[in-house]
Amino acid sequence: MHHNAGRKQIDVVLAAVKKMGLTAQPIPGSDRTAIGVLGNKGYVDDINIRNMPGIKEIIHVTKPYKMVSRDFHPKGTLVQVKGITIGEGKNPIVIAGPCAVESEAQIMKTAQAVKRLGADLLRGGAFKPRTGPHTFQGLKEDGLEMLAEAGRRTGLPIVTEVMSPENVNLVAAYADVLQVGARNMQNFDLLRELGKIRKPVLLKRGMSATIEEFLAAAEYIYAEGNHQIMLCERGIRTFEPATRNSLDLSVIPVINELSHLPVIVDPSHATGKRSLVPPMTKAALIAGANGIMVEVHPEPDKALSDGPQTLTIPGFGKLMEEIRALRSFMGY
Ligand code: PEP
Ligand code: MN
Repeated sequence: MHHNAGRKQIDVVLAAVKKMGLTAQPIPGSDRTAIGVLGNKGYVDDINIRNMPGIKEIIHVTKPYKMVSRDFHPKGTLVQVKGITIGEGKNPIVIAGPCAVESEAQIMKTAQAVKRLGADLLRGGAFKPRTGPHTFQGLKEDGLEMLAEAGRRTGLPIVTEVMSPENVNLVAAYADVLQVGARNMQNFDLLRELGKIRKPVLLKRGMSATIEEFLAAAEYIYAEGNHQIMLCERGIRTFEPATRNSLDLSVIPVINELSHLPVIVDPSHATGKRSLVPPMTKAALIAGANGIMVEVHPEPDKALSDGPQTLTIPGFGKLMEEIRALRSFMGY
């Protein structure tokens, strides 16, 4: 709309879009209001609308995502998890915990340690998407119970993965944040199911997904009505074997331009190597990540999964000190 278009002119356009059987979403900006059109299967015949008073221009958004785009929602989304706010302008958060919940003692010990050292959320997988079927697959609902108990005792909100649409309600009964793993980024039935619940989702980038595919996957959740979504960069497959994946740090500013959703970086799965986690954590924070997620275990060498990339408790303590130093340096 023109910057001087009034409420009446905006309402007339909204009504005209609705009359076409489409959804109209006003997007108030600092100098003018835009009206987002949703639900069109193809090119919208805009002859009638084009000539309405107050219209400045009609922009065709050809991206496969709209609702998660900055065009539709210029202000950054803030995700709320039990009193913690994640997103634009907020202090970056730290999610820490083991790759998998292995026992009551293991998760409790880790939870208490990461809490003492300053973590904001506790992670731990109960449903594990392992590459082969002969490895530890997770403790399933028993694991969820152990994780929830560790969360209750420490006061840390918990993040855990859900692998199938049938388990969304089960996992949502325990978790504060539901994680979609890289291997499931394009499990569209799972994404749709997660769109129907009212708990935040941490969506990990598929290991060979483009940023456009990543955002289109988030759109599936958003379009169903769940707007509390965090995007998680966890490295992508490249030709380089020295690291488990290649951490694509440019995702952070690219997504900040394209989308209003917060970005979390997982340097553990991205590098696959404990010694590389601290430098890449710091790089991610400097690049503008809204949070980081790292794997921590009391005895990484005995971990049932991802030991080599997992920090020891003292290692996590040292990383938290480095993050604090960075905080005062960056002014947050
Ligand atoms: C995880 O975070 O537990 C995990 C399995 O990571 P990814 O899906 O990124 O491989
Ligand atoms: Mn892992």
